[in-house]
Amino acid sequence: MPQAVTELPEYTLVRSRRRTLALEITPAGQVIARAPLKMSQARIQAFVLEKAGWIRVHLAQARRQNQLAAQAGRLTPEDIQTLRKEAEPVIRERVHFFAKALGVTYGKITLRCQRTRWGSCSAKGNLSFNCLLALAPPEVQDYVVVHELCHRKQMNHSPAFWREVAALLPDYPARREWLKKNGPTLLNCTPFVRQCGIMSNKWGDL
Ligand SMILES: [Zn+2]
Repeated sequence: MPQAVTELPEYTLVRSRRRTLALEITPAGQVIARAPLKMSQARIQAFVLEKAGWIRVHLAQARRQNQLAAQAGRLTPEDIQTLRKEAEPVIRERVHFFAKALGVTYGKITLRCQRTRWGSCSAKGNLSFNCLLALAPPEVQDYVVVHELCHRKQMNHSPAFWREVAALLPDYPARREWLKKNGPTLLNCTPFVRQCGIMSNKWGDL
């Protein structure tokens, strides 16, 4: 009996300073392998090949879900693009404004659509924001911006960190509460990103 040969699925390789290898299927149906900078091509290909079945199943699901989304009101990848375009200039302007008020610097600003977090701030000061913020009230957008910028002073959620937030936004608890209450509904509007591999899928700390 000849052995069935599995073909290597098509994928896009994205290398970054990460420690683990992971596969992701975007809502638009793109397969992305996220790998550490120095991991060998052979090892990555072997992993993709090993997950070929998982990729086939989830690509089919992504297609099906995009059809359903169009019917059920879940945001489509095109909707997300539109939101990103709307949110980007607003967020940039707010970051600029509050960074000045706080006296902090920042690096790159990225807007992406994520199911798990509203914003993040790297050790280098690169900021990332969820484009679904376009659907939140301006005062909540400001809270997320201020929260991330305050991490430029305190890379933690210590009382000192919250004092920084409160100094700029004394009413931040109400804004935070809005996000806690309504955030999950907003995040549920997003198309699913399917991930496998060794993932660190941390929930946002907001
Ligand atoms: Zn935080």
